Parts: sequence; structure tokens; C-alpha cells
Amino acid sequence: MNLTIPAVIQAAIDRGAAVAISVSAGKDSQAMEQALAWLRERHQWPGPFFAIHADIGPEFDWAWTVQLCRRNAKALGHPLHVVHRDNGDTLLHTIQKRVAVTAGTKPPFPSAACRFCTRSAKTDPINKFLRRAGDLVINVMGLRAEESRNRAKLPQVTIRKEISAERLKNLLPEEALAAWRPGKERLALDWNPILGWTFGQVLQACGASLTEMESRRALFQLGCYDMAFTGWPASPTYILGLDRHSCAICCMSARREIPIAGRFRPDLVRAIAEMEQASGFSWQKGNPVSALLSAETRSIPAQAGQVQPLPQRYKGVGSHNTYTRLPAGIAQNSAVLSRLPI
Ligand code: SF4
Repeated sequence: MNLTIPAVIQAAIDRGAAVAISVSAGKDSQAMEQALAWLRERHQWPGPFFAIHADIGPEFDWAWTVQLCRRNAKALGHPLHVVHRDNGDTLLHTIQKRVAVTAGTKPPFPSAACRFCTRSAKTDPINKFLRRAGDLVINVMGLRAEESRNRAKLPQVTIRKEISAERLKNLLPEEALAAWRPGKERLALDWNPILGWTFGQVLQACGASLTEMESRRALFQLGCYDMAFTGWPASPTYILGLDRHSCAICCMSARREIPIAGRFRPDLVRAIAEMEQASGFSWQKGNPVSALLSAETRSIPAQAGQVQPLPQRYKGVGSHNTYTRLPAGIAQNSAVLSRLPI
């Protein structure tokens, strides 16, 4: 697996930047957290290092999310900070308010073009925390190119403009770091270190594999719940048949996944269907969740909610990664990064 450190990130780490690992309990952020915790220990990164999770509330999330985030951070030996919206609203409350405000005049639901959900439930609370984390901060995210065309175009490193000093915002990351005045202003960088990783590679870095996942999915379908879930180190949502651990029903969910999630979450199907009815719009264009109201449901077995211990030597799962320093100038080019040997 490639896990390369762009020169500007290495320089920021060497200058004591706080490294914030943004985690969701999904496989991508779990894999990234594990690999970076190992690198940090091996190379004695000098600044603070912690995981951060934005809790969106129980209605849209899976019951095990926060527990898994806690387990993963504890196993790796760094703190986890769980943040919420200031006004205490969950994601469901935020969307319900938008349904009321828009009053049927325009679509009230989040979409790829209007990700107010991510901003209000995740980005804003995380930014509030990062403002207090220091004046040089690296926010690390587990986005992968394989997930969408937009993500495939993402650079490895950008400036997190919302919480960086005005005069640094429009510079290149390398220029901003060179111009940054410690103690006088804040510079925050966003870093996507696992853009080039595949589904199989992230499972491997979690201590699992695609073959194991498929076997466990089959056991789950057969009703062998103990065998399906015992010892599985990643989120149980993958065993239920979903490829993403996100909001159980996400505005970006693949059409195939919404009925699978809805089967296990009739509570969320009802909540979204009520908002569809009140607004006159469907959750995804041409794909109303209310169509699932009469679908068969299935309860989530208790075994899925039991937090599984992680494998021994969990932090060493990624120990075959090498520590590659990249020269300045190619740090923005993920196509180059993905070809570099490890
Ligand atoms: S997981 Fe989906 S619905 Fe939930 S906040 Fe993110 S984009 Fe919005």
C-alpha cells in the first residue's frame, strides 16, 4: 500500500503541527488511523496526535459508530474527541428544520450539489474544535479516489480555508507554510493520504480482507450471527451487505444500498418518508424512500452491536508501509503519488 508523506505535510509535522485524524468508524478512516498511528510512533512525530469524530445523532447513524471510534483510538493509544453541533441539533433535526423553512418551494434534502448535511453536522463542529487545537493543524481524511469521480480529482493537500488566516488562504500549501507566522496566525491543511487505496487495501489495513468480508456476509445471510460477527475488526455495516459506513441512508447512497439499509432501519425510513410527504420532494431525485415503507424489514442481531476486540498487533498491520518523503512540487499530483513504490 502506498502511504506517502508529501513534503509540505512532513515539514508541518516537523514543525510540531497538531495531527487530527477525522474518523467515522468506517473502514477508510479506520485504516488511515491505524497506518498513521504506526507511522507517528515509529517516527516520533512531535506534535499532538488525536482522532476526531463528529456525532450526527442516533437517527441517521448506526448504533455502534461512537463505540467503534472509541475502541479504535484506545487500541492505538491516542485520544478521541467527539464533537457535536453547538445547538444540540442532530442531523435529523437540521433536515426537519429545512423542510419547514423551504415549505415545499424547493428540495429540502441534501444532495451531491448541496451538502449542507456534511457542513452542519460534521465540518462546522470539527472546525470549531480545530480552532482550539493549535495554530498549525493537519486535518487528515480517509477519502479515496475509487469512491467517485470527484474524489479521484482531489489533491493530496489543500489549505483548510475556513480556519486559516486570511492572508494564507489563497496560497499554495507550500507557500502558506513558508509564510506562516507561528503564534500570530493559524494555518490548517487538509491531507488525503489514502486517495489511491482500494477497498481491499483498506480492509487489509483494518486487519481483514475482501474474502473474509464475503464469507461473513454469507454466514450472516444464513443466520449464523456469532460466526458472522465474532472477530470482525471493521464496522458491522459491511457484514449487513453495505459497502459504505456513513449515514445509514445517505443522500449519496448508491440506489442498490438504500433498500438494504432501509431493511434494517425502518425507523429512519419512516422519518425520511414523513419529510418527503411534508415537502413534496423525494430524498434522492426520482428515488423516494417512502417506496420502502411497505418493504420487508429485518432486525439487526445483537451480535452486530457487540464491539469486537481488535487483532493482536493491530497497530502493526500496516508495518509494510514505508515512509516516503516527497519533494515539494509534486505533492499536489495524486496520479504521481499513486505510482510511487513503497
Ligand atoms: S453521510 Fe451522506 S447524508 Fe450523512 S452527512 Fe455525509 S453526505 Fe450527508
